[in-house]
Amino acid sequence: MQTLTPEKDVIDIVKENGTDLFKLCYQCGMCNTACPWNRVRNFLIRRIMHQTQLGLVDFENEDLWLCATCKACVVRCPRGVEIIDVWRALRRVMSEVGAGKVPDALSVAVKNVSGVGNPLGEAREKRTDWAKDLDVKIHTKGTEVLYFPCCYQAYDARGQRVAKATANILQKAGVDFGILGNEQSCCGESIRKAGNEGLFQSLVESNVKAFNAAGVTRIITTSPHCYHTFKNEYPKSNGNFEVMHLAQYLAELVKEGKLKFTKELNKKVTYHDSCYLGRHNNIYDEPRQLLQSIPGLKLVEMINTREDSLCCGGGGARVWEETKKTERFSDIRVQQALEAGASTIASACPYCMIMFEDSALTSNKSDAIEIKDLTEIIQEAL
Ligand code: SF4
Ligand code: SF4
Repeated sequence: MQTLTPEKDVIDIVKENGTDLFKLCYQCGMCNTACPWNRVRNFLIRRIMHQTQLGLVDFENEDLWLCATCKACVVRCPRGVEIIDVWRALRRVMSEVGAGKVPDALSVAVKNVSGVGNPLGEAREKRTDWAKDLDVKIHTKGTEVLYFPCCYQAYDARGQRVAKATANILQKAGVDFGILGNEQSCCGESIRKAGNEGLFQSLVESNVKAFNAAGVTRIITTSPHCYHTFKNEYPKSNGNFEVMHLAQYLAELVKEGKLKFTKELNKKVTYHDSCYLGRHNNIYDEPRQLLQSIPGLKLVEMINTREDSLCCGGGGARVWEETKKTERFSDIRVQQALEAGASTIASACPYCMIMFEDSALTSNKSDAIEIKDLTEIIQEAL
């Protein structure tokens, strides 16, 4: 057991939002009941909150890296404890102060972001390769909106299909948009949740500088993580831009008659509420409105839906870490989708897509269910 030192790294970080609400925890255990980890193993959040109150936390405890920042516990806590801020603070003590051990895979991702601006360790100059054969404007001066694909969508072959579908949809809808060049860096959302506050702040600074240089006023993202951090965290560091997730933007275009579906898609689709569009930002309706406006598509709901959605397990930097096969929430979620009678899971988050595809593959369910990003389904119907 190790005393929390220096104290400011935990207590002051939690107070950073003007609150030290963790002190209000009265050990009811509602957070334990809400947490998806308790579907697959024991994870006593209540106990760690108590240790934090006492200033006694065992930084060798690997459980401190488990939280996927899904917010299910925060929603349930009767005392308003900002539990995710407590995890972030504890992880900061491990990442920045050096107490405890940072998981190896996470250290690699953080090092990559620090070195080349993305967790995959890809070269900066390849950031816009996905758009090479598309007629996409790089640099946005004078364009109406900036499209900000996340790092997976810029570099990863599977993710690039989402970026390409997005560009295609925006072009078909006649939207005047551009992308940033190689100066774009990771938004830093997961970096911050992994406790790397200093690196997060430097990412904010460089992205805000790039946005301002390009004259950006409106940003569209296809990752709820980029959306969340641009909307809720960048303004605290003078990054004030209008931010929309693509699902919101496209739902508006459909309402205005600027985006029309011409093909029938005879599919049974279930929409997975990602934690960062859903519980973190209360965006539940627009993705469903989009899917329901596609002719022939039947939308079915899973047992855990909207605010009660089941996390994929990829948030809080968990997407970069290994999770034992027996402990993957995404396996449970794929099963829930099958039980709902769906043949497609529609996701609006790159992490969810990665987690579900891996689960479908490793559970031999890829023939029974396909995993698609919302943009790919929309593209099919245009
Ligand atoms: S739900 Fe809130 S008050 Fe109850 S144990 Fe968890 S953190 Fe404490
Ligand atoms: S945010 Fe989600 S994963 Fe993290 S402790 Fe709370 S319920 Fe568990």
